[in-house]
Amino acid sequence: MATSSEVGATIATVGGEGPREACGLFGVWAPGEDVARLTFFGLFSLQHRGQESAGMAVSDGERILVYRELGLVSQVFEERTLATLQGDLCIGHTRYSTTGSTTWDNAQPSFKNNGGRGLALGHNGNLVNTAELAAEAGRRGPATTDSDLVATLLARHLDQGLEEAALRVLPTLSGAFSFVMMDERTVFGARDPHGIRPLAIGRLPSGWCLASETCALDVIGASYVREVEPGELVALDDRGIRSLRFAPSPRAALCLFEFVYLSRADSRLYGRSVHDTRREMGRRLAREAPADADLVIPIPDTGFSAAQGFAEESGIPYGEGLIKNRYIGRTFIEPTPALRQRGVKLKLNPLPDAIAGKRLVVVDDSIVRGTTTRQIVQLLRDAGATEVNLRIVSPPIRWPCFYGIDMSTRQELIAAGGPIDEVRRFVGADSLAYLSLDALVSSTWAPKDAFCRACFDGEYPVDVGHTEPSKFVLERL
Ligand code: SF4
Repeated sequence: MATSSEVGATIATVGGEGPREACGLFGVWAPGEDVARLTFFGLFSLQHRGQESAGMAVSDGERILVYRELGLVSQVFEERTLATLQGDLCIGHTRYSTTGSTTWDNAQPSFKNNGGRGLALGHNGNLVNTAELAAEAGRRGPATTDSDLVATLLARHLDQGLEEAALRVLPTLSGAFSFVMMDERTVFGARDPHGIRPLAIGRLPSGWCLASETCALDVIGASYVREVEPGELVALDDRGIRSLRFAPSPRAALCLFEFVYLSRADSRLYGRSVHDTRREMGRRLAREAPADADLVIPIPDTGFSAAQGFAEESGIPYGEGLIKNRYIGRTFIEPTPALRQRGVKLKLNPLPDAIAGKRLVVVDDSIVRGTTTRQIVQLLRDAGATEVNLRIVSPPIRWPCFYGIDMSTRQELIAAGGPIDEVRRFVGADSLAYLSLDALVSSTWAPKDAFCRACFDGEYPVDVGHTEPSKFVLERL
């Protein structure tokens, strides 16, 4: 049975110059534990990956119960809701939409049943053969996500069990996908053959769990086992953990932006701390693009580690110059036009005492559209900064992302065509420099070919055809 209550709120996204997040996944099989509560804490630590909706599906071995809602994890799951979600296994999802609008129907986990069997599914990523899959699936429900489409296709084969259904359907998908799935007894995790989106396996005293990032394993006391491999399907149940392969992996291509921006600094990817990697990026940036300045400040939060590295390498003091309102999140009920005009001020407040009269190095992770960066530069000047030298710990973004990060057309990318100095003029900085792609990759200690770098160099690991991605592909069919 799928249960829900529906709200009609409009969701707006505030500021945020970095690429918008993908989604957060969590799954746990642990009889005797409060699996819904473990999932709640797991999702809570993955909140940064998606703030439009949250949901979970829980099973007691007999039936699957789904609860999902628009809003933050802490808004969706009250104590009394968690108390009703009892069982031995659970999956959870936090959403940032990259296919389909922000509606209740598109919140996840998706739920389907067929012949008395049920399945629930949460997806991180974006498929690139959605139109073909939709044609194959035929009539669909009210949901307009590629994720719901996959659930529909899986449900067709449910008479053979979810494991068999997954082994049949997953090889037909093209693009980026990490999934957590469950039937009444088993939790499954899967990653696309390039492993574009992350998914890690954790061990609990009484079971197993899966999470988009290792920080969600830490918070529930699970020990990290390994990453789900590209092209692998893992099953977690009373038989332990089983590994099945649904497709060969031509090469791994983890999204390089996971290191730059998407993952939390306390997570690990490819065995490497994200914080340490970002610090190294900052050090290398200080060597590649030094600045004569009085103070290095980060754009919170993702700029923190890199700004520390820049300060260490350059010898320029590090300090905070902008304070983030952590509780506004990325999404909130749409404000009045007057409030919206305040834009970035809703989220960042400068510290004039720290900034006034100073030549600043301002470290940020990336520039996508440039509009927020421009507001931040103005904010710093208004607070008395005498110079704003922008240092970006990734190369210019010149190509759209087809794999689940919301920067989908070249037109919206400020660095897509023109010279860097045009970007500098647009954002109003005194100087602007980007980290080179080679230095960015070297900071991770993984080889260049272990990554998708397509938004920087235009080399797409999965063929994307010639059309730019549309978030509303299923609403236009
Ligand atoms: S195109 Fe860029 S943002 Fe998209 S998956 Fe590749 S590296 Fe990540």
